[in-house]
Amino acid sequence: MPPLLRARGLEPGARALFTTRRGGVSRGRYESLNLAYTTGDAPEAVAENRRRVAASVGARLERLVEVQQVHGPAVAVVGREHAGSVLRGVDGLLTASPEVWLAVYAADCVPVLMLDPARPAIAAVHAGWRGTADGIVPAALRRMREAFGTVPRSVRVALGPAIGGCCYEVGPAVARTLERAAQAAGAPLAPPSGSALPRRVDLRALIRAQLAACGVPPEHVEAVGGCTRCRPDLFFSYRRDRVTGRMAACIRLCDSARRE
Ligand SMILES: [Zn+2]
Repeated sequence: MPPLLRARGLEPGARALFTTRRGGVSRGRYESLNLAYTTGDAPEAVAENRRRVAASVGARLERLVEVQQVHGPAVAVVGREHAGSVLRGVDGLLTASPEVWLAVYAADCVPVLMLDPARPAIAAVHAGWRGTADGIVPAALRRMREAFGTVPRSVRVALGPAIGGCCYEVGPAVARTLERAAQAAGAPLAPPSGSALPRRVDLRALIRAQLAACGVPPEHVEAVGGCTRCRPDLFFSYRRDRVTGRMAACIRLCDSARRE
């Protein structure tokens, strides 16, 4: 069984998990638990890896809803009728149905899982630098409010393994874009002395600031796993390896969390 990182802050309302690169059958650059078909890995290896993760969490793969990630700020509300489908043009999924699993894939980008235990409702979001700069996490929260009446102060969030401030070096254009996003969230980034722009960015810290600006209490936000680039034994990292696998972030509402 592959080892999985649990987002305990979202329990017991949801089952929320992040995979590592361990416990699969893929070889070479994809060793071993690559879960994305879009990477160039052997499809039969990815299929076996997905079966292993599904078996270890007791999930049925035909209940999975995925996105064809485009690094944009769009999210979609889905229900049981979307089970088994891949939605195009969005990087985040929201649902109030306990009958589907939501999944996003990442290798450095930030996988974000959210639970509104009051409604209840959940979300899974893929946030790279573009999505973060474009505010995909605040957009997902807004959409949760519109669709489900979610109040930010009750939302619980888990930020999965992602490239850390230790390793994520950015050029001037990306630094300017992310600095604007950070200022909009009321938490300017810290550039090195003698410089106007940050050279390294902690995307998870920026997303934390965005969540706080939306009204999510900081103590409701947990980071699960460390820096993907620092841990080649544990995580895939696009920045480190370029051709590599993807980890998954998966979430499902627990039946017992439903009110009716
Ligand atoms: Zn690092």
